[in-house]
Amino acid sequence: MSYYETYVTDVLVIGAGLAGERAAIESAVSGWNVTILSLVPPRRSHSSAAQGGMQASLANTAMGKGDSPDIHFLDTVKGSDWGCDQDVARLFADTAPVAVREMAHWGVPWTRVTLDKRIYDGKEIHEDPEKVGLISARNFGGTAKWRTCYTADGTGHTVLYTMDSMVLKLGITVHDRVEALSLIHDGERCYGAVVRCLRTGALRVYTAKVTVIATGGYGRLYGASTNAVINEGSGMSLALDTGVVPLGNMEAVQFHPTGIVPSWILVTEGARGDGGYLLDKNLYRFMPDYEPGKKELASRDVVSRRIMQHIRAGYGVESPYGDHVWLDIRHLGEKHINTNLREIATICRNFAGIDPVHDLIPVRPTQHYSMGGVRTDIHGKAHGLDHLFALGEAACWDLHGFNRLGGNSLAETVVAGKIVGSQIAKYTRDVSLDVKTSLIEEHLHQQEDRIKRLQERTGGTENVYELRRQMENVLSQNVGIFRTEDPLKQAVKQLQELHERTQHIGLRGGGRGGDPELAAALRLPGMVRLAYCIAQGALARQESRGSHFREDFPKRDDVNWLKRTLAYWPTGATEPELQYEPVKITESPPGDRGYGEATSTFQAGQGKGQNPGNAGKP
Ligand SMILES: Cc1cc2nc3c(=O)[nH]c(=O)nc-3n(C[C@H](O)[C@H](O)[C@H](O)COP(=O)(O)OP(=O)(O)OC[C@H]3O[C@@H](n4cnc5c(N)ncnc54)[C@H](O)[C@@H]3O)c2cc1C
Repeated sequence: MSYYETYVTDVLVIGAGLAGERAAIESAVSGWNVTILSLVPPRRSHSSAAQGGMQASLANTAMGKGDSPDIHFLDTVKGSDWGCDQDVARLFADTAPVAVREMAHWGVPWTRVTLDKRIYDGKEIHEDPEKVGLISARNFGGTAKWRTCYTADGTGHTVLYTMDSMVLKLGITVHDRVEALSLIHDGERCYGAVVRCLRTGALRVYTAKVTVIATGGYGRLYGASTNAVINEGSGMSLALDTGVVPLGNMEAVQFHPTGIVPSWILVTEGARGDGGYLLDKNLYRFMPDYEPGKKELASRDVVSRRIMQHIRAGYGVESPYGDHVWLDIRHLGEKHINTNLREIATICRNFAGIDPVHDLIPVRPTQHYSMGGVRTDIHGKAHGLDHLFALGEAACWDLHGFNRLGGNSLAETVVAGKIVGSQIAKYTRDVSLDVKTSLIEEHLHQQEDRIKRLQERTGGTENVYELRRQMENVLSQNVGIFRTEDPLKQAVKQLQELHERTQHIGLRGGGRGGDPELAAALRLPGMVRLAYCIAQGALARQESRGSHFREDFPKRDDVNWLKRTLAYWPTGATEPELQYEPVKITESPPGDRGYGEATSTFQAGQGKGQNPGNAGKP
């Protein structure tokens, strides 16, 4: 065997976002030696971009009075369109208040309850003087009670920085600018990962008693996404490529209603939660017509569809980047915007050249969150392979079913980090690291060969960036918000062809050292396989549930489709194999969400021309 840097650790956590770091902390305080890997310095992980907040039923604010984990549980299940695992939702809702308070104890500067005058939807809110100074909450995620805890609109930033400070304090080893390329496994258990240093291009070996995938979402498969450029789903590829670990509900892709056109940077739902309106080309506030109860704060899948429905009906604002609608927060006032929404105000000024204090913000639904991911049990243990765990956005735990509630994902990172982290710590006690060097060599050589083939291939005709653009287009055009059989079939066929073409990539550069083109070429085949799982799962699922909306099957079908898709990619296969498992219903039988198409009587066009310019006067 050639010389490779080799690291041995008890717990190997791939991913240094909130989920990975929180789980690492739990293992480290139990005395385990923990190593965290990351593509970028941990504080630059995508979690840092989260603006809106974190759900936990603390019930400190006037609008959260009477809240409880029971109500949080029900909101989560309804939001998921009954696609989530209810045992997981229950555990999550019960643990969230503890996890959020724990973050306060570790130093997160949560926005607190004050007696400042506050108007919401025309009504003045009076806080209880006895609650002043406790953790506050905003309206977010279409919940029954206001329970989204926040630090202005930089929640992910403050929570991740606090978390990373704990990682430093505990002396946990962090190796950044590295990329895990494959899991070392024998088809039964996992022993660590083969990793490539992104600075030098050298391969390394990390062996571990327990390996954890916490690599975030796959937003960038869609091109236009609110996700960071590093969110390419590579942890899901690691799992899928074992041939034995399935991915759950890959077709469950969330589109956020308000990506800024055309940079696709997110405007937090907090902007609508704080009272922002969606307006059409006539400056008409159209959401109350579609969703009289929740208005702009129906669940994200519903608001995204309503916007697209309204645009399709001819009420979109034309732009060189496609039709869009407006987000109006002007009436919230300069002070509110420049304090509670200051990050998005800065983003609007810097990236869109507008000032939301005076201007409307051009927005359109944009890919945002991956509900699908590495399928695990309630303890975070991956299906199919022992000693492998997954959590956070990379996983399908499955808290979110077919639609993740705003504020439930950041909360999931710290809650799952706490719960799964403690399971990992317990599990590690019974594991000894006993791995054959021949197995390590086999996995190393597979990656070494892939790299050599790319570096030495002179006849490779395909351009990695061009193939990637084609993959993004296939998903965006045919596997987006509205889905139908023929475009989905076409997507599957195109992705099959693209997958074949990834075998013929030729590098324009030499592929030496930390060459980014080589990194992209190593990553792309796995990304296309993920895209294939999304399209295949969407084609097979003949119903509409949460974010998965089939125009040819517009109803949710609880008789045939109350089940979770499991996508496997057997070794050497050219397409995914789909299997299904039942969704666990324990407390809340499938019912009406109380918002969305099933209950609406609105006909597109009803609001045309009425009450133009009513912005700010609901
Ligand atoms: C713009 C935006 C705003 C959001 N706002 C909110 C919000 O207000 N509330 C809310 O609840 N949710 C929000 N979300 C969702 C939430 O931020 C994410 O779901 C959550 O932060 C994901 O955390 P994570 O730890 O799972 O992954 P990430 O934070 O994405 O971390 C992934 C880590 O994995 C590493 N990694 C990836 N691949 C590899 C590899 N192959 N090898 C080594 N390391 C690897 C990366 O370097 C990174 O460290 C928002 C999402 C977006 C896009």
